[in-house]
Amino acid sequence: MPSAMLTGITGQDGSYLAEQLLSRNYEVHGLVRRTSSTQRERLDSLFKDDQVYEKRLFLHYAELDDATTIRRILVKTQPDELYHLAGQSHVGTSFEIPESTCQFAAMGTLKLLEIVRDLSKQPRFLHISSSEIFGRPEVTPQNEQTPMCPVTPYGVAKTFATNMVRLYRDSFGLFACNAICYNHESERRGESFVTRKITKAAAAISLGLQKKLKLGSLDGRRDWGYAPDYTDAMWRMLQQPEPEDYVLATGAAHSIRDFLSAAFEAVELDWREYVEQDPRYMRPAEVTQLVGNASKAESQLGWKAATTLNDLAVRMVRHDLQLYSNQARQNS
Ligand code: GDP
Repeated sequence: MPSAMLTGITGQDGSYLAEQLLSRNYEVHGLVRRTSSTQRERLDSLFKDDQVYEKRLFLHYAELDDATTIRRILVKTQPDELYHLAGQSHVGTSFEIPESTCQFAAMGTLKLLEIVRDLSKQPRFLHISSSEIFGRPEVTPQNEQTPMCPVTPYGVAKTFATNMVRLYRDSFGLFACNAICYNHESERRGESFVTRKITKAAAAISLGLQKKLKLGSLDGRRDWGYAPDYTDAMWRMLQQPEPEDYVLATGAAHSIRDFLSAAFEAVELDWREYVEQDPRYMRPAEVTQLVGNASKAESQLGWKAATTLNDLAVRMVRHDLQLYSNQARQNS
């Protein structure tokens, strides 16, 4: 049975990847932070499955900056594949807490690479990189050769980590890859990201639970895909004969207004009547034109982002409507 270790297993991508690996018959290990809250709702269905939890899915406590503990866990579990998904991934927040963003996104990745370098059985390593490394690029769409030009603390940290992965691959011979992911969303997206904030608000407003939606700049355009498509590509990357970097993207850029239209149309409302601008959500710097060219992933991995923006928005709104109706049932 192949085995995999995931950092960030409780996050959006980690939870989808864990499910996909389990369905591919992997033994799955996850590194989790010890916090006072044991709520890990994205993994709930796996915890409740007694054929899975502590049979084929195992969690281990370690902070990302605790190299000694991570080393011990990796020596003990000897995974075939290591997916490094953890880290503070909110770009807006990275302006508020740049040091800890870099500590985890940049130094956390380097620490993991150093541990892997020393292991006698080295797992194949995947780092989730980000379109934020391109910042304000000179070319559109971007591909694996596009020069990095980050403009946010998160982007700078991811640029460091992405380059370190390349260095460890080229200089130390690690099977290490960067998945350069454009925005990917889902029903499990954190509620402070703009897509989920919009779909939750559309659902709440349509049910009379909320009156207005306060947002920052609506000028940005993003290449938004569906998260499970992206985690599937990550697995495919580690099955290749050679370690390489891949851009994972839909190739289509949409504005925040497009996403607002799609989400509010799903509940038959006009978003213009509900959205207000709030300077609290404006950022000191914005990336405005990020769109990816995933033709390498398509030709080498046989992968294509399959979900359209409209399908994504409708799926997320439906989920949030259900969430509110479950809450109402529990409270009654
Ligand atoms: P990002 O691409 O990783 O920064 O993903 P986000 O979902 O956090 O933000 C996407 C875009 O939405 C950025 O251009 C934000 O400035 C913009 N945006 C506008 N209002 C908001 C808001 O209230 N919250 C967030 N997170 N983003 C917002």
